[in-house]
Amino acid sequence: MQLVFATNNLNKLKEVQSLIPPHIKLLSLKDIGCFEDVPETQDTIIGNAIQKAEYVKQHYGYDCFADDTGLEVEALNNEPGVYSARYAGPKRDANDNMDLLLKNLKNKPNRNALFKTVVALHLNGNLETFTGICKGEITTNKKGEKGFGYDPIFMPNGYTETFAEIDLKLKNKIGHRGKAVTLLVEFLSTL
Ligand code: IMP
Repeated sequence: MQLVFATNNLNKLKEVQSLIPPHIKLLSLKDIGCFEDVPETQDTIIGNAIQKAEYVKQHYGYDCFADDTGLEVEALNNEPGVYSARYAGPKRDANDNMDLLLKNLKNKPNRNALFKTVVALHLNGNLETFTGICKGEITTNKKGEKGFGYDPIFMPNGYTETFAEIDLKLKNKIGHRGKAVTLLVEFLSTL
């Protein structure tokens, strides 16, 4: 079986690649000649995941899956949520996003947050979705060099290190994307 993973994010590709069994060949957007930005203009995480998967199926004809992720912060009415990538503006800069989040949470005692990933799978004309959630809290400053995005300021519940301080294997085991992709892999194994 071969499946396109509809992302240009090399960090996501690395995380997901290590969870997909070897008999499933993963193709990147580059592999299928897709070099444009895949649209994600919906106002929900699930809506964006579905939109990305459908775009690839419609324009390139491949069965594929796409993920969309958001960080929901309790004290900020679950913001930035679906707008996590552009929280600090259209540059989509991870450091700017983290700085703005830390500023908006300054002096707020409740630092609870969660990452949510929805994976949408387009396979044999059917659409399936899989959701993974990881709860934790936002630290008061950035820690760690690993990972990407908001990882340096997200500490998963039960751990004393941020996602940017733990290794990929552990992030995949306890993290939002790992959980959603594990459900995807379980589903594929039933076919
Ligand atoms: P998207 O799913 O690529 O649209 O990601 C939305 C935003 O969340 C971007 O700013 C990403 O950098 C960030 N993000 C997505 N996944 C993760 C993750 O696993 N850790 C930290 N930040 C992430």
